Amino acid sequence: MREETRQVIEQDRAHCWHPFTRQAEWCGRANEPLVLVRGEGAWLWDSEGRRYLDGNSSIWTNIHGHAHPAINAAISRQLEKVAHTSFLGFTHPLAADLARRLCGFFPAQTLERAFFSDDGSTAMECALKLAVQFRQQTGDTRKNRFIAFANGYHGDTLGAASLGGVGRFFEKFKHFGFPVQHVGSLDELVNLPMDETAGIVVEPLIQGVNEMRPWPAGMLAALRRWCDEWDVHLILDEVMTGFGRTGSMFACQRENVIPDFLCLAKGLTGGYLPLAATLTTGKVYDAFLGGGERAFYYGHSYTANPLGCAAALASLDLFEKEETLLHLEGKIDHLRESLAAFHARQPLVHEIRQCGFIAGIELRRPDGEKFPPDERFGEAVCLAARAHGLLTRPILDTIVLMLPLSASCAEIDHAVHAIELALGG
Ligand SMILES: *Cc1c(COP(=O)(O)O)cnc(C)c1O
Repeated sequence: MREETRQVIEQDRAHCWHPFTRQAEWCGRANEPLVLVRGEGAWLWDSEGRRYLDGNSSIWTNIHGHAHPAINAAISRQLEKVAHTSFLGFTHPLAADLARRLCGFFPAQTLERAFFSDDGSTAMECALKLAVQFRQQTGDTRKNRFIAFANGYHGDTLGAASLGGVGRFFEKFKHFGFPVQHVGSLDELVNLPMDETAGIVVEPLIQGVNEMRPWPAGMLAALRRWCDEWDVHLILDEVMTGFGRTGSMFACQRENVIPDFLCLAKGLTGGYLPLAATLTTGKVYDAFLGGGERAFYYGHSYTANPLGCAAALASLDLFEKEETLLHLEGKIDHLRESLAAFHARQPLVHEIRQCGFIAGIELRRPDGEKFPPDERFGEAVCLAARAHGLLTRPILDTIVLMLPLSASCAEIDHAVHAIELALGG
């Protein structure tokens, strides 16, 4: 190991605290943290000069590949002007343009306003607070509860976390935050008190953290109809699904659904910088007009950061110039075919769940039983795949495969092959 690598690891072990990480294990001698130093396209390099395919798009963020010249140039251009200015009391050209372009993906008089924040959690937080305050200002104070789905994931800040339905993450904090009723499916909505419900939150088409589990076709459109019937806001968490992952720009477009709130983050900047947006309707916006007490008192220091906006605009330009979604169609088919072939020849593959360019590969014992959780089989497989040039993370025993949209068919094959080698075949 190079001296520089050793030093980084020592400092990290002494002073860093990693997200979702068992630190004792992380700092243990048996763990050799990977020090990532460079990226290009769908590939990442470590401090020892080894390269890996970025199999989970750097935790579901990257879209057009790393170090894309167009995004790099857009950030540099803005950097030479100014890195950050306050959005509180001022505006700037890139934020105005970005808000216009995001709303432009939807028909006029639908989603008309973008409220910027920093990440998926704050985009959700913002939608939830807007939804509650909207009811207070439209004479519906009884409507102050939310409905969310079992095993959903909406981020880690307290409000967003209270909507989450993943027991192992949220159990300890479930008494804090918004009043929430969790349901498993649309059928369970019938007995809930609609006159007390402000909004319902869902990850459209596919639940990510729930081991990449797609909803039945038509679920989203049915939910939209139900929301209209009961005057409940539909809050879509497209933090993972947004920006092409499912094959169209936004997952909701696949079922012709327009939500009342649309939360965007991870892929918004192409995976370059933290920036988020909560889109909402003119109707919601109008309820916040007239008098200081009606304003939305919410914001963050780095709201609408110009570098982030520059990256986001460059990413949207690339979708057009590189015809990203057009080229993606064939790659989605290629992914489906290569995973089907993999499934057919590999007895440990229990089920493939795919939605657009997002895939989950659930591993089980050949007899169909789950591996004992303590075995942490999924983690072991991902660690082994590293030696074959693939980086990804599992969710329990489901291996996530979510390459940047720019990945080629050859790179898809490399990823699937690395997982196969990691399984010992
Ligand atoms: C990642 C994610 C979030 C949280 O986003 P952060 O940027 O990590 O705060 C929320 N919802 C979904 C569906 C996500 O995948």
